[in-house]
Amino acid sequence: MSAKRDARDAPGAAALSIRGLRARYGTVTVLRDVDLEVGAGQVVALLGANGAGKTTLMRTAAGVVSAAAGTVHVNGADVTRLAPNQRARRSLCLIPEGRGIFRNLTVEENLRINTPPWVKPVSFDSAYQAFPILAERRKQIAGTLSGGQQQMLALTRAWLSQASVVLVDEASMGLAPVMVDVIFEALHALAARGVSLLLVEQYVKRALAMADTVYLMKKGVVTRAGDPATLEESDLAAEYLSHGTVAAGNARGEPGTGPGTGTGQGAGQG
Ligand code: ATP
Repeated sequence: MSAKRDARDAPGAAALSIRGLRARYGTVTVLRDVDLEVGAGQVVALLGANGAGKTTLMRTAAGVVSAAAGTVHVNGADVTRLAPNQRARRSLCLIPEGRGIFRNLTVEENLRINTPPWVKPVSFDSAYQAFPILAERRKQIAGTLSGGQQQMLALTRAWLSQASVVLVDEASMGLAPVMVDVIFEALHALAARGVSLLLVEQYVKRALAMADTVYLMKKGVVTRAGDPATLEESDLAAEYLSHGTVAAGNARGEPGTGPGTGTGQGAGQG
């Protein structure tokens, strides 16, 4: 797959450009004037405490949640008023938190569903190359796969959709360390293909290691944006500690077992 850009794309435009974005659930505002940009071919890490609004930001960018104000541009095109499937058509792909797969269907049936109707010819080769185990399990019912394999299956949408901008929400959530390695390898592979990535990750160190830019969010507001190399440990800790979610010594590291890491992952599952 190549990270194809639409013929209507503006040359030199950011892959994803979010300006003044606001979102609400009912009367409660959870995103406030958020600006965020993912440059073409860049990796951006979006970090913040539980409830900061990271998932809502991704859902609003993808059109699953309507923007109350602000704009979303994908490869230079204004998609703010477009439905989720129309944004997907414009090369935006959301891999939601919680493995959005059909558990009662086989691996191959899920791959068919993960392939948008406009992608022709239909081939699952790219998904099987990214995750060879799925080729071996192609006839298996998805719900009987391990947690890591289910996450791989969810991630295949990024390959099968041929999207140029992929939003990945907590892909490593609850997985055993060996599976986390596989998922990060896959994310690196996507980035190496020129796909622009926005990552929400509990494995903060790993996300920062591959990110060109990091954004910190707190209570629906972006509080800091910049080069991960210049991010102070204290900045990061402050974002988490303000909500009492991650112990200071753990803020930059792997998800811990301290109170309120919010991952509920325990030892993880494979
Ligand atoms: P987490 O790491 O826990 O997923 P997050 O940073 O992704 O947190 P969101 O899930 O975007 O945060 O939640 C932002 C706020 O919106 C929280 O206060 C949350 O309780 C609230 N919220 C999220 N989803 C809904 C919903 N469907 N209806 C009402 N409120 C919601």
